[in-house]
Amino acid sequence: MRKLKDIGKQKHIALIAHDNRKIQLIKWAKKNAGVLSTHFLCGTGTTARLIAEETSLPVRAFESGPLGGDQQIGASIVDGKVDFMIFFWDPLSSQPHDPDVKALLRIAVLYDIPVAMNESTADFLLMSDFMNTEYVHEEE
Ligand code: PGA
Repeated sequence: MRKLKDIGKQKHIALIAHDNRKIQLIKWAKKNAGVLSTHFLCGTGTTARLIAEETSLPVRAFESGPLGGDQQIGASIVDGKVDFMIFFWDPLSSQPHDPDVKALLRIAVLYDIPVAMNESTADFLLMSDFMNTEYVHEEE
């Protein structure tokens, strides 16, 4: 049986954007740098580097997505080390690592972590009262 870890007050947020969506995620991260600075950030290689450069926030970088970064983030979700994800994937082009993307989204659903895949959802998530409290998953 999977173990669902409580999501603490300080979230461990993974940031990922495909190339055609990086500008949007960087813009979103800049707009929300104040809130993001109160949480722990990580991301796939290029996304993490660009967001760190543009916001001056510390962002732990995994490998680049096509080189296994998505899989590393998926494993971190399983380990309870990532509990929140903003993933701006590209709806208009296929990626060489599409299987990894699918696997990551599957793991995120399985472990019941909040996931935003576009700007409005990311905005709604960040406005949630749960951003300032612990979140305990329902018992199954
Ligand atoms: P990147 O990876 O941040 O290293 O570009 C993102 C992805 O394509 O999954």
